[in-house]
Amino acid sequence: MTDTSEGRALLAAATAEGEWAAVGNDIGVVIWSSDGPGLDGPVMIGNAHRDDAAHIVWLHNNAEALLDAVDAVGRVRALHRASDALNDGSRVCLSCHAYTGFAEAYPCPVIRALDGES
Ligand SMILES: [Zn+2]
Repeated sequence: MTDTSEGRALLAAATAEGEWAAVGNDIGVVIWSSDGPGLDGPVMIGNAHRDDAAHIVWLHNNAEALLDAVDAVGRVRALHRASDALNDGSRVCLSCHAYTGFAEAYPCPVIRALDGES
């Protein structure tokens, strides 16, 4: 499971709250937050190449949802874990077996879907 605690700590430690935005042109782009600590207006975060600024802003504004999604995937993977090897060496998904009563080979459809397989 991917540990998201460092990402959550970094997000919580960010002093510029609110949505971030990249404002500028081909010459320079400045990253702003909608709220700074104790301020009522935008605060400048820094500047960067426009592509980098767009990347930073998008990641910041979506970080909490991304971390939540990573944690949710981890919880699903923890549920759909493999059994110990059976006599023939195969494994089954403990969760699918528990819910359906059928021995679903591991990786089960849920894990294959998370891995991008159909
Ligand atoms: Zn399963």
